[in-house]
Amino acid sequence: MDKSGIQSEVENVVIIGSGPAGYTAAIYAARANLQPLLITGFTSGGIPGGQLMTTTFVENFPGFPDGVLGPELMDLMKAQAVRWGTKLIESDVISVDLNVKPFKLSTLEGDIYSNSLIIATGASANRLGIINEKEFWSKGISACAICDGATPQFREAELAVVGGGDSACEEAVYLTKYGSKVHLVVRSEKLRASAAMIDRVKANDKITIHWNTSVVAAKGNDWLEKIETIDKKNQKGEINIKGLFYAIGHTPNTHFLNNQIDVDKKGYIICNQGRPETSVEGIFAAGDVADSEWRQGVTAAGSGCMAALAAERWLSEKNLSKLITREVLEPSKSESSSSYEEEVTKDTFDVNSEWQKGSYALRKLYHESKKPILVIFSSPTCGPCHVLKPQLKRVINELNGEVQGVEIDIDKDQEIAKQAGINGTPTVQLFKEKLLKKEWKGVKQRSEFKEAIQKII
Ligand code: NDP
Repeated sequence: MDKSGIQSEVENVVIIGSGPAGYTAAIYAARANLQPLLITGFTSGGIPGGQLMTTTFVENFPGFPDGVLGPELMDLMKAQAVRWGTKLIESDVISVDLNVKPFKLSTLEGDIYSNSLIIATGASANRLGIINEKEFWSKGISACAICDGATPQFREAELAVVGGGDSACEEAVYLTKYGSKVHLVVRSEKLRASAAMIDRVKANDKITIHWNTSVVAAKGNDWLEKIETIDKKNQKGEINIKGLFYAIGHTPNTHFLNNQIDVDKKGYIICNQGRPETSVEGIFAAGDVADSEWRQGVTAAGSGCMAALAAERWLSEKNLSKLITREVLEPSKSESSSSYEEEVTKDTFDVNSEWQKGSYALRKLYHESKKPILVIFSSPTCGPCHVLKPQLKRVINELNGEVQGVEIDIDKDQEIAKQAGINGTPTVQLFKEKLLKKEWKGVKQRSEFKEAIQKII
């Protein structure tokens, strides 16, 4: 990579995407001594870690008999890839030039050159495009029930989920933990989710299914109050709800390729049946970006493995691979990546600590600290929060303790979340001497936080 425009090191293989396909490709390529570079993606095309970051329990990934939380599974895959020598860059690929050899990738961090590429950029959640969608986005409308379900406005309220697949069913069941009732709005007369998921929906008496129904508009004042619907017989209807969650499928993240690789009508990369080779020699695809049919974590992982083996074979045939011999034959075990942190109490509170959790720490620092305070409002199942927390910790660390961080779990500290006007996670608020200086919703670049903090230090 290079910031001055001079082509520097050429990678053996660059993997774009950090879902199960990307990390599995990285594990295989790293163990083949290719020292792959994996570009995780950041804000475009969802969040690092992919779709499993916004799911709760994954119950069908082999090896986890009791299920595993999606973000935890992704942490484990990432740790495994890093343990074997994968280099990571947290950035988006803005554009590519696939007509030159080595291939050129432009990222926010600079240009990268590689002899081969594995594209594993997955797919992004679709939006409905109903009337007033923009107005009520984050004010009742959300694309992620798992991230936003715990926010105070949805408690004991009627909620709706649109869609009929596994995501919609999972989200409807999940939301019954918080809402008084959940309406599942299905545009056809059948659910396409797996049988086990359908059984769970049907057995839950807090869920009502509205068959053959489409949502046309959102209505309300400052917050969503109702949706207008229409059914197949053109009957109009209204459902009073405080939350509307989309689970209507995904679109493949291939726009950055700018038609330099063959894609189908929907934008999925075209590969030969069951193989990872794309229309450009030396470029391989894996996971949902090339799979409109199976789209499972385990099939993505399997195709990531195939892409890495194919890339390894191709590099060696073309005499392009530069094998990097590992200094240590057996890399040390990866560190446990448990994200669990204890809430501080009167006894454990430390006025000088850079990062603490819970309402006690927030109250104390809010009233007593002269330093800026960065507060992240998170919820236990929120994948984006999982991505953002280490970024914020890094910012705080880089600022040498000039700012202090506090995490508030909105599931536990509902009152504080309500007072702070939180309507989705992650939300980050920056305070100085009891004044709110700035607020961010969702995952943002580290530089944005740093800049805002430096202005008020
Ligand atoms: P799917 O593509 O499977 O389902 C999308 C649903 O949204 C369909 O019911 C579709 O309706 C509906 N839909 C699409 N567009 C519209 C629209 N404009 N208006 C109304 N409804 C619309 O996506 P999912 O995200 O549910 O699942 C993706 C993949 O991930 C699947 O393979 C699934 O099995 C897997 N998954 C597995 C989970 C698990 O095992 N725990 C959890 C979540 C997902 P129609 O049926 O009429 O086309």
